[in-house]
Amino acid sequence: MKIYNSLSRQLEDFVPLNPEQVSIYSCGPTVYDYIHMGNARTALVTDIVRRYLVYRGYKVKLVQNLTDIDDKIINRAAELGVSAKQLAHQNGEAFFEDSQRLGIHCADVHPKATEHIPEMISLIQTLIDKGAAYVIDGSVYYRVNQFAEYGKLSGRKPEDLLAGARVEVDERKEDPRDFDMWKAAKPGEPAWESPWGKGRPGWHIECSAMAMKHLGETIDIHAGGEDLLFPHHENEIAQSELATGRTFARYWMHIAFLKIDGRRMGKSEHNFILLRDALDHYPTEVIRHFLISAHYRHPLDYNPESLAKSEGALRRLNNCLDALKKYEGGKDGVPSSNLDRETLPLQEAIQTMKSRFVEAMDTDFNTAQALGAIFTLVGEVNRSLATFDGAAAPVFARAYQVLTETCGVLGIYDMDAEDDNNVEQRDQLIALLLDVRQEARSRKDWDTSDKIRDRLKELNIEIQDTRDGATWKIIS
Ligand code: AMP
Ligand code: ZN
Repeated sequence: MKIYNSLSRQLEDFVPLNPEQVSIYSCGPTVYDYIHMGNARTALVTDIVRRYLVYRGYKVKLVQNLTDIDDKIINRAAELGVSAKQLAHQNGEAFFEDSQRLGIHCADVHPKATEHIPEMISLIQTLIDKGAAYVIDGSVYYRVNQFAEYGKLSGRKPEDLLAGARVEVDERKEDPRDFDMWKAAKPGEPAWESPWGKGRPGWHIECSAMAMKHLGETIDIHAGGEDLLFPHHENEIAQSELATGRTFARYWMHIAFLKIDGRRMGKSEHNFILLRDALDHYPTEVIRHFLISAHYRHPLDYNPESLAKSEGALRRLNNCLDALKKYEGGKDGVPSSNLDRETLPLQEAIQTMKSRFVEAMDTDFNTAQALGAIFTLVGEVNRSLATFDGAAAPVFARAYQVLTETCGVLGIYDMDAEDDNNVEQRDQLIALLLDVRQEARSRKDWDTSDKIRDRLKELNIEIQDTRDGATWKIIS
């Protein structure tokens, strides 16, 4: 497998530090509002990276943090007249809810910044002890000139860094590039005790401390949106590597922006579509398909036409899988009849699709090409379904298995929908039986009425007669 490493700016072979378990840290949301489709793109890419690594046989530990203390949270809470804690809690819960609706599996750990203050304080203290940080009026600053490799991730030269940093010059800092790791408390703001007085952590130290606490001093993959490359990730490296003397993250993955009308989708741009609003309009799989329709390092433009295309693609996929489903579980392999030769192209197409899928995903998680492979096979299958009948069943069974497996990795095929359909059908059948029973009762046909009740009970479905009619429930 190869991953593009933003640090080396090239594709590198992926070799995890510990072959037993890949560690991934992904910068999660600042929970001052609901997440938008741009945030969703980054979260979804991480989800797919993890699913694919598992598919390739790795064990993965994924940590995704929640930044639950920050200027934006404090300001928004003040506007709304609620506490920062309450606002962060509500939006944190909403984040989990939205992620789940998008089919994103929970990370192994979702650490919150406010629950890791002691770890942050200890890391800052280490840096002070090493001469890499200094205290001014209760705030602690990182001394950038102590880290010779500062700028290695962003490729920015010291003079560029100085020019950028001048925008927000703080006269008290030794060097304009220095950044705060601990902010002295301001009146009315949430604050924690520390050796430097009451205050709160800076954003960069939060991720360094949480990543190292949950994944160790060196992690395999560190992921986040491209906006985080500088200064956030550059500063995470500076803090962590100076403190430990070790490589902090071995592969840096940066997810390109989701755009709208050619501009980055963002809260500050006031051009965002909330994920929850999109999910009210489109099925999960359609949104997932859209968000992975471009390779993660390419920008993607949000527009109704692209979503309509994803809707069309999903319809073709589902129709194809519905048609194939009846062959599921049949012996897969080659057909025994003389259709053998005629179905050869389809057999080959299945094989080709599987290797194209793996090759695409092995090459820096190229979901766009992986989808291309899947939909080429869908086309082949549709043609074959029209040509062959059940005699080609074993090949269709194999196509079904390969398609559901690969679509499952990308999360664009909803196995649960089948269960939902089954549940709906069950409910309709019970309603029908209750109607029949009601008719029997009105004829005073108690035998039939009791028989329906008793037989349903044997199936663990209990009928209760109420004044408003019969209801039912499942009993265990
Ligand atoms: P935030 O809540 O702004 O800290 O963002 C949470 C995550 O979403 C970070 O990894 C960001 O880099 C990422 N992100 C924010 N906006 C976009 C966007 N338009 N496209 C892709 N990722 C984004
Ligand atoms: Zn971070």
